[in-house]
Amino acid sequence: MTDKYAVFGNPIAQSKSPFIHTEFARQTQQDVSYEAILAPVDQFSQSLMAFFKAGGKGANVTAPFKEQAFAACDELSDLAKLAGAVNTLIYLSDGRIRGDNTDGIGLVNDVMQHFGDIKNKRILLIGAGGAARGCLKPLLESQAEVTICNRTYAKAQTLQAISTGYGKVNAKSIDDLNEAFDIVINSTSAGLAGELIKLPKQIIGANTCCYDMSYGASTTLFNQWAVNNGAKSVVDGLGMLVGQAAQSFYIWRGVMPATQTLHDTLRAQLK
Ligand code: NDP
Repeated sequence: MTDKYAVFGNPIAQSKSPFIHTEFARQTQQDVSYEAILAPVDQFSQSLMAFFKAGGKGANVTAPFKEQAFAACDELSDLAKLAGAVNTLIYLSDGRIRGDNTDGIGLVNDVMQHFGDIKNKRILLIGAGGAARGCLKPLLESQAEVTICNRTYAKAQTLQAISTGYGKVNAKSIDDLNEAFDIVINSTSAGLAGELIKLPKQIIGANTCCYDMSYGASTTLFNQWAVNNGAKSVVDGLGMLVGQAAQSFYIWRGVMPATQTLHDTLRAQLK
Protein backbone atom coordinates (compact mmCIF):
# COMPACT_ATOMS: atom_id res chain seq x y z
CA MET A 1 0.00 0.00 0.00
CA THR A 2 1.20 3.50 -0.78
CA ASP A 3 2.48 5.38 2.30
CA LYS A 4 1.17 8.93 2.54
CA TYR A 5 3.26 11.99 3.40
CA ALA A 6 2.57 15.72 3.08
CA VAL A 7 3.93 19.19 3.71
CA PHE A 8 1.85 21.67 5.72
CA GLY A 9 2.20 25.43 5.34
CA ASN A 10 0.36 28.65 4.63
CA PRO A 11 0.95 29.64 1.89
CA ILE A 12 2.04 26.31 0.38
CA ALA A 13 1.56 26.56 -3.40
CA GLN A 14 5.21 27.66 -3.77
CA SER A 15 6.57 24.57 -2.00
CA LYS A 16 9.00 22.40 -3.93
CA SER A 17 8.70 19.58 -1.39
CA PRO A 18 6.08 17.52 -3.33
CA PHE A 19 8.32 17.58 -6.40
CA ILE A 20 11.43 16.75 -4.36
CA HIS A 21 9.90 13.87 -2.39
CA THR A 22 8.13 12.39 -5.40
CA GLU A 23 11.50 12.35 -7.13
CA PHE A 24 13.21 10.79 -4.06
CA ALA A 25 10.51 8.07 -3.99
CA ARG A 26 10.92 7.33 -7.70
CA GLN A 27 14.70 7.22 -7.40
CA THR A 28 14.71 4.89 -4.36
CA GLN A 29 11.71 2.84 -5.55
CA GLN A 30 9.68 3.58 -2.44
CA ASP A 31 5.87 3.31 -2.64
CA VAL A 32 5.20 6.82 -1.35
CA SER A 33 2.79 9.67 -2.15
CA TYR A 34 3.47 13.25 -1.06
CA GLU A 35 1.06 16.18 -1.23
CA ALA A 36 1.01 19.85 -0.24
CA ILE A 37 -1.66 20.78 2.33
CA LEU A 38 -2.74 24.37 2.93
CA ALA A 39 -3.63 24.48 6.63
CA PRO A 40 -5.71 27.46 7.83
CA VAL A 41 -3.44 29.62 10.01
CA ASP A 42 -5.52 28.88 13.12
CA GLN A 43 -6.10 25.17 12.43
CA PHE A 44 -2.71 23.58 11.96
CA SER A 45 -3.05 20.84 14.58
CA GLN A 46 -6.57 19.90 13.41
CA SER A 47 -5.36 19.62 9.80
CA LEU A 48 -2.37 17.57 10.87
CA MET A 49 -4.38 15.12 12.99
CA ALA A 50 -6.96 14.70 10.21
CA PHE A 51 -4.12 13.74 7.86
CA PHE A 52 -2.62 11.26 10.33
CA LYS A 53 -6.02 9.72 11.18
CA ALA A 54 -6.57 9.22 7.44
CA GLY A 55 -3.38 7.15 7.23
CA GLY A 56 -0.60 9.76 6.90
CA LYS A 57 2.76 8.34 7.98
CA GLY A 58 4.71 11.55 8.30
CA ALA A 59 4.81 15.22 7.38
CA ASN A 60 7.01 18.18 6.73
CA VAL A 61 6.09 21.54 8.16
CA THR A 62 7.01 24.93 6.80
CA ALA A 63 6.21 28.56 7.69
CA PRO A 64 4.36 29.57 9.79
CA PHE A 65 3.78 26.27 11.58
CA LYS A 66 7.20 25.00 12.73
CA GLU A 67 6.72 26.16 16.33
CA GLN A 68 3.15 24.79 16.45
CA ALA A 69 4.48 21.49 15.12
CA PHE A 70 7.01 21.49 17.96
CA ALA A 71 4.16 21.94 20.45
CA ALA A 72 2.12 19.14 18.85
CA CYS A 73 4.81 16.48 19.40
CA ASP A 74 4.80 13.80 22.08
CA GLU A 75 8.55 13.24 21.69
CA LEU A 76 11.36 15.29 20.16
CA SER A 77 14.86 14.74 18.83
CA ASP A 78 17.69 16.70 20.48
CA LEU A 79 17.93 18.83 17.33
CA ALA A 80 14.24 19.72 17.55
CA LYS A 81 14.53 20.48 21.27
CA LEU A 82 17.31 23.00 20.76
CA ALA A 83 15.67 24.46 17.66
CA GLY A 84 12.32 24.92 19.41
CA ALA A 85 10.87 24.15 16.00
CA VAL A 86 10.03 21.03 14.01
CA ASN A 87 10.05 20.54 10.24
CA THR A 88 9.72 16.73 10.18
CA LEU A 89 6.97 14.73 11.87
CA ILE A 90 6.62 10.98 12.18
CA TYR A 91 3.28 9.41 13.12
CA LEU A 92 4.36 6.49 15.31
CA SER A 93 2.49 3.18 15.30
CA ASP A 94 1.18 3.81 18.84
CA GLY A 95 -0.45 7.09 17.74
CA ARG A 96 2.18 9.40 19.23
CA ILE A 97 3.93 12.07 17.16
CA ARG A 98 7.72 12.41 17.03
CA GLY A 99 9.30 15.66 15.85
CA ASP A 100 12.67 16.32 14.32
CA ASN A 101 14.41 19.24 12.67
CA THR A 102 16.51 18.61 9.57
CA ASP A 103 17.16 22.24 8.51
CA GLY A 104 20.51 22.42 10.32
CA ILE A 105 21.86 19.20 8.84
CA GLY A 106 20.77 20.39 5.39
CA LEU A 107 22.62 23.66 5.93
CA VAL A 108 25.84 22.25 7.37
CA ASN A 109 26.15 19.53 4.71
CA ASP A 110 25.71 22.10 1.94
CA VAL A 111 28.08 24.62 3.52
CA MET A 112 30.74 21.90 3.85
CA GLN A 113 30.17 20.65 0.31
CA HIS A 114 30.89 24.13 -1.04
CA PHE A 115 33.36 25.59 1.46
CA GLY A 116 35.04 22.50 2.96
CA ASP A 117 35.35 21.39 6.60
CA ILE A 118 34.15 24.03 9.04
CA LYS A 119 36.10 22.81 12.08
CA ASN A 120 37.64 25.86 13.81
CA LYS A 121 36.24 28.14 11.08
CA ARG A 122 34.98 31.50 12.31
CA ILE A 123 31.36 31.63 11.24
CA LEU A 124 29.05 34.64 11.48
CA LEU A 125 25.39 33.65 11.61
CA ILE A 126 23.14 36.60 10.80
CA GLY A 127 19.59 36.29 12.11
CA ALA A 128 18.13 34.61 15.19
CA GLY A 129 14.83 33.20 13.95
CA GLY A 130 13.77 29.57 13.66
CA ALA A 131 16.20 28.74 10.85
CA ALA A 132 19.19 30.11 12.77
CA ARG A 133 18.15 28.28 15.91
CA GLY A 134 17.77 25.01 14.01
CA CYS A 135 21.32 25.30 12.67
CA LEU A 136 23.13 25.98 15.94
CA LYS A 137 23.61 22.40 17.14
CA PRO A 138 24.91 21.00 13.80
CA LEU A 139 27.25 24.01 13.44
CA LEU A 140 28.61 23.59 16.97
CA GLU A 141 28.95 19.82 16.61
CA SER A 142 31.08 20.47 13.54
CA GLN A 143 33.30 22.49 15.90
CA ALA A 144 32.82 25.80 14.15
CA GLU A 145 33.36 29.00 16.15
CA VAL A 146 29.97 30.67 15.89
CA THR A 147 29.23 34.37 16.31
CA ILE A 148 25.57 35.31 16.03
CA CYS A 149 24.12 38.74 15.35
CA ASN A 150 20.58 39.90 14.80
CA ARG A 151 18.62 43.09 14.18
CA THR A 152 16.95 42.46 17.55
CA TYR A 153 20.05 41.88 19.68
CA ALA A 154 18.17 40.28 22.59
CA LYS A 155 17.25 37.32 20.36
CA ALA A 156 20.91 36.73 19.53
CA GLN A 157 21.63 36.71 23.27
CA THR A 158 18.85 34.15 23.79
CA LEU A 159 20.41 31.85 21.22
CA GLN A 160 23.78 32.25 22.90
CA ALA A 161 22.19 31.26 26.23
CA ILE A 162 20.34 28.19 24.95
CA SER A 163 23.46 26.89 23.19
CA THR A 164 25.32 26.41 26.45
CA GLY A 165 26.07 22.71 26.73
CA TYR A 166 26.44 22.26 22.98
CA GLY A 167 29.33 24.65 22.42
CA LYS A 168 30.27 28.30 22.54
CA VAL A 169 28.27 30.92 20.69
CA ASN A 170 29.21 34.58 20.81
CA ALA A 171 26.32 37.04 20.53
CA LYS A 172 27.34 40.41 19.07
CA SER A 173 25.32 43.42 18.06
CA ILE A 174 25.55 44.25 14.36
CA ASP A 175 27.21 47.59 15.15
CA ASP A 176 30.02 45.84 17.04
CA LEU A 177 31.05 43.62 14.09
CA ASN A 178 34.48 44.83 13.02
CA GLU A 179 36.39 41.78 11.73
CA ALA A 180 36.32 39.48 8.71
CA PHE A 181 34.88 35.97 9.14
CA ASP A 182 35.75 32.75 7.30
CA ILE A 183 32.08 32.09 6.52
CA VAL A 184 29.08 34.41 6.77
CA ILE A 185 25.62 32.79 6.77
CA ASN A 186 22.50 34.88 6.21
CA SER A 187 19.52 33.31 7.93
CA THR A 188 17.30 36.39 7.91
CA SER A 189 14.09 36.70 5.94
CA ALA A 190 14.97 40.26 4.87
CA GLY A 191 15.54 39.21 1.26
CA LEU A 192 12.03 37.75 1.00
CA ALA A 193 10.71 41.27 1.54
CA GLY A 194 13.20 42.69 -0.96
CA GLU A 195 15.18 44.28 1.87
CA LEU A 196 18.94 44.35 2.29
CA ILE A 197 20.23 43.97 5.86
CA LYS A 198 22.48 46.80 7.03
CA LEU A 199 25.85 45.19 7.73
CA PRO A 200 29.39 46.54 8.19
CA LYS A 201 31.49 45.60 5.18
CA GLN A 202 34.45 44.65 7.41
CA ILE A 203 32.81 41.24 7.95
CA ILE A 204 33.86 40.35 4.41
CA GLY A 205 37.56 39.68 3.79
CA ALA A 206 39.38 38.39 0.72
CA ASN A 207 38.84 34.76 1.86
CA THR A 208 35.30 35.08 3.16
CA CYS A 209 32.71 32.65 1.78
CA CYS A 210 29.04 33.60 2.09
CA TYR A 211 25.92 31.45 2.27
CA ASP A 212 22.37 32.80 1.95
CA MET A 213 19.64 30.43 3.17
CA SER A 214 17.29 32.15 0.71
CA TYR A 215 17.45 31.26 -2.96
CA GLY A 216 15.94 32.45 -6.21
CA ALA A 217 16.25 32.73 -9.95
CA SER A 218 19.13 35.18 -9.68
CA THR A 219 21.81 36.05 -7.11
CA THR A 220 20.14 36.94 -3.80
CA LEU A 221 20.36 40.50 -2.46
CA PHE A 222 22.64 39.41 0.40
CA ASN A 223 24.95 37.43 -1.87
CA GLN A 224 25.12 40.33 -4.33
CA TRP A 225 26.08 42.63 -1.44
CA ALA A 226 28.77 40.12 -0.41
CA VAL A 227 30.16 39.91 -3.96
CA ASN A 228 30.21 43.71 -4.20
CA ASN A 229 32.24 43.81 -1.00
CA GLY A 230 34.84 41.28 -2.14
CA ALA A 231 33.57 37.88 -0.93
CA LYS A 232 35.58 34.95 -2.28
CA SER A 233 32.49 32.92 -3.17
CA VAL A 234 28.75 32.93 -2.54
CA VAL A 235 26.18 30.13 -2.45
CA ASP A 236 22.41 30.25 -1.99
CA GLY A 237 20.10 27.96 0.00
CA LEU A 238 18.82 25.64 -2.72
CA GLY A 239 21.22 22.91 -1.60
CA MET A 240 20.02 23.34 1.98
CA LEU A 241 16.44 22.87 0.80
CA VAL A 242 17.25 19.63 -1.01
CA GLY A 243 19.51 18.47 1.84
CA GLN A 244 16.91 18.96 4.59
CA ALA A 245 14.37 17.11 2.42
CA ALA A 246 16.78 14.20 1.90
CA GLN A 247 17.31 13.97 5.66
CA SER A 248 13.52 13.91 6.25
CA PHE A 249 13.15 11.18 3.64
CA TYR A 250 15.89 9.20 5.37
CA ILE A 251 14.17 9.55 8.76
CA TRP A 252 10.90 8.24 7.30
CA ARG A 253 12.14 5.58 4.89
CA GLY A 254 15.60 4.55 6.16
CA VAL A 255 17.17 5.18 2.76
CA MET A 256 19.19 8.26 1.80
CA PRO A 257 18.35 9.55 -1.68
CA ALA A 258 20.95 11.08 -4.01
CA THR A 259 20.52 14.85 -4.31
CA GLN A 260 22.83 16.32 -6.96
CA THR A 261 20.75 15.62 -10.09
CA LEU A 262 17.60 16.83 -8.39
CA HIS A 263 19.41 19.96 -7.22
CA ASP A 264 20.50 20.67 -10.80
CA THR A 265 16.94 20.13 -12.08
CA LEU A 266 15.54 22.56 -9.50
CA ARG A 267 18.22 25.11 -10.36
CA ALA A 268 17.27 24.89 -14.02
CA GLN A 269 13.58 25.24 -13.13
CA LEU A 270 14.32 28.36 -11.05
CA LYS A 271 16.00 29.95 -14.02
P1 NDP B 1 11.98 33.88 11.15
O1 NDP B 1 10.78 34.71 10.84
O2 NDP B 1 11.92 32.94 12.30
O3 NDP B 1 13.23 34.87 11.44
C1 NDP B 1 13.49 35.94 10.60
C2 NDP B 1 14.85 36.56 10.95
O4 NDP B 1 15.15 37.56 9.95
C3 NDP B 1 14.90 37.28 12.30
O5 NDP B 1 16.17 37.09 12.87
C4 NDP B 1 14.66 38.74 11.91
O6 NDP B 1 15.20 39.66 12.82
C5 NDP B 1 15.42 38.80 10.61
N1 NDP B 1 15.00 39.90 9.72
C6 NDP B 1 13.84 39.99 9.02
N2 NDP B 1 13.83 41.13 8.29
C7 NDP B 1 15.00 41.77 8.53
C8 NDP B 1 15.58 42.99 8.07
N3 NDP B 1 14.94 43.78 7.21
N4 NDP B 1 16.81 43.32 8.50
C9 NDP B 1 17.48 42.52 9.38
N5 NDP B 1 16.98 41.35 9.85
C10 NDP B 1 15.75 40.97 9.43
O7 NDP B 1 12.35 33.14 9.80
P2 NDP B 1 13.14 31.75 9.63
O8 NDP B 1 14.30 31.77 10.55
O9 NDP B 1 12.20 30.62 9.69
O10 NDP B 1 13.64 31.84 8.11
C11 NDP B 1 14.64 32.75 7.75
C12 NDP B 1 15.02 32.59 6.27
O11 NDP B 1 15.61 31.33 6.06
C13 NDP B 1 13.84 32.70 5.31
O12 NDP B 1 14.26 33.48 4.21
C14 NDP B 1 13.59 31.27 4.89
O13 NDP B 1 13.04 31.19 3.59
C15 NDP B 1 15.01 30.71 4.93
N6 NDP B 1 15.02 29.26 5.11
C16 NDP B 1 15.57 28.50 4.11
C17 NDP B 1 15.59 27.13 4.21
C18 NDP B 1 16.18 26.32 3.09
O14 NDP B 1 15.99 25.10 3.10
N7 NDP B 1 16.91 26.94 2.18
C19 NDP B 1 15.03 26.43 5.38
C20 NDP B 1 14.51 27.32 6.39
C21 NDP B 1 14.50 28.68 6.24
P3 NDP B 1 14.38 40.18 14.10
O15 NDP B 1 14.55 39.12 15.14
O16 NDP B 1 15.01 41.46 14.45
O17 NDP B 1 12.94 40.33 13.67
